[in-house]
Amino acid sequence: MLVFYDSNCKVCGKTILISKFSRFKLCRNCNKQRRECLKIKKIELSKNELITNEYSLYIFDLYLNYTNRYKYKSAILKQANNLLGYLSLTPIKTLKNWKEIYAESDKYCASYKENKKVTGCPFIKIGRMLTEIGVITSRYEDRSHYFGKLLKRFSSNLTAITEINIQAYLIHLKDKGHNQVYCHLTFTHLSIFFRWCKAEKIILVNPCNKLQSSRPLQQITVCDEDTVNQLMRFVKNPKSCPEQAMIILLILVWGFRSEDLGHAKIEITNNEFRIVLRRKSLKNIKYYNRKQIITFPSKPNSWIYLLQQRFYKEWLIQYQDRIKSFPCYYLFLPRYRAIRPLTNETIVARIYEATEAAVGKRITSRILRQTCGAIHSTASDASILATLGWSSDYCFNYTWVPKVYLK
Ligand SMILES: [Zn+2]
Repeated sequence: MLVFYDSNCKVCGKTILISKFSRFKLCRNCNKQRRECLKIKKIELSKNELITNEYSLYIFDLYLNYTNRYKYKSAILKQANNLLGYLSLTPIKTLKNWKEIYAESDKYCASYKENKKVTGCPFIKIGRMLTEIGVITSRYEDRSHYFGKLLKRFSSNLTAITEINIQAYLIHLKDKGHNQVYCHLTFTHLSIFFRWCKAEKIILVNPCNKLQSSRPLQQITVCDEDTVNQLMRFVKNPKSCPEQAMIILLILVWGFRSEDLGHAKIEITNNEFRIVLRRKSLKNIKYYNRKQIITFPSKPNSWIYLLQQRFYKEWLIQYQDRIKSFPCYYLFLPRYRAIRPLTNETIVARIYEATEAAVGKRITSRILRQTCGAIHSTASDASILATLGWSSDYCFNYTWVPKVYLK
């Protein structure tokens, strides 16, 4: 006679009924996972026979690494099999940017009909892994895909566009009644696009190169003294959330941009807490104004020291908990996904959370930064702002542009 008794699943701990003959003490779901896992192992074992190209093997490993992080579904197993077949037949050139990844993705999707909504594309997953490893830039920063699409919509020859055309277009915008902010933004976007075209050798000369458009700064919106005091009280409060306090501190005192926050890393050497900013290759400017490494004061008992201690403690817990392919010490870590730099959207959401916790209302990073500028500058001199990496034009604005207080 079969006797069932109560037990707990070895993986998830759920209460289950098992007989003494059951081999694995697993619930239905976990047992299914175990079986799917075995099938993936089988695929993994056969990869060396099927894929001869070393690079293809490498990216297949990346793909398996990625899928390992999530629950297996039968659709994923099928996809792994499909990808194995695809890689064994088609040689893959080294993937260097997202454009090439999307091209491979299109080729793959044309040969295998998969429900993309269920499984996603394997090449996009490989691209994400390549980003994590630091081989290519993130999807949001790589504009090639978006610009490539844009190019297809152009009817005229790009090489025929000159400075005069751009100038005429900007004047046309003004005549239509658009304000200077809009015109400046349009010009900036155009010049980014043409710079990309030149780098891709689609055009020889960038028509925006010699043109200049200045960003109109009609007013600087800053937080009033009360709000600033409230923010600083939050930062110094030993009971506030250390991550939120750190975000506010870095923008308000060091003038960090969202991009800086997302890519900054931490470094601890000789008990010194340091923040390392990302350096992109210089294109339009000759040198960096601001220091790359910001060292925090290591004087014990000061509030800033206590904050960094609190922050680091929490950070370590988060870091150990997150999935990562290699050590990457980003200052701010994602809450769920594997460690990659946070996107600007995520940073913006966290700034809102932080300011809401501190003063009970959302304050944009722009206003926080402008407040930072106002705190550091005086009516006659704002040159100190250059140490934050701000351009001298922008610094100069702080001496004369009217300031408005945030309500
Ligand atoms: Zn279970």
